[in-house]
Amino acid sequence: MSTIFSKIVAGEIPCYKIAEDDKHFAFLDINPVAPGHTLVIPKKEVSYIFDLTDEEYTALQLFAKKVALALKKAMPCERIGVTVIGLEVPHTHIHLIPITKESDMNFSKPKLTVAPEEMTEIANKIAKYID
Ligand code: AMP
Repeated sequence: MSTIFSKIVAGEIPCYKIAEDDKHFAFLDINPVAPGHTLVIPKKEVSYIFDLTDEEYTALQLFAKKVALALKKAMPCERIGVTVIGLEVPHTHIHLIPITKESDMNFSKPKLTVAPEEMTEIANKIAKYID
């Protein structure tokens, strides 16, 4: 059975898309810990990031870097924090989170509720900065 993220890539489930290439996809996290919280995934369904081949892993990280650079330009923040958790969705994903302080990356805090119009606006803004 496909993961929810494969369904997003296939267009079967809507998302706030930021960027894609032939092997990768980036979209806003639906329950962000900070505005602009983005997920970067390989289109290939692999549950655990360290099961990717060296080539797949490197390509994913380079795609994530491209998205992170755009995110930094689009969102007011000090840096883009990076983490991989993966306990909820069994499809490799890198969390990119605009931060100004360490606690901005606290996944234990209540998630933000961002209105759909604002999510669309944020995704479009980040997408504009993708090289
Ligand atoms: P984890 O697997 O622990 O890294 O958490 C999965 C992340 O995916 C969470 O931050 C969720 O908010 C996010 N998520 C789950 N479903 C969707 C979806 N349909 N669209 C965007 N983000 C999602």
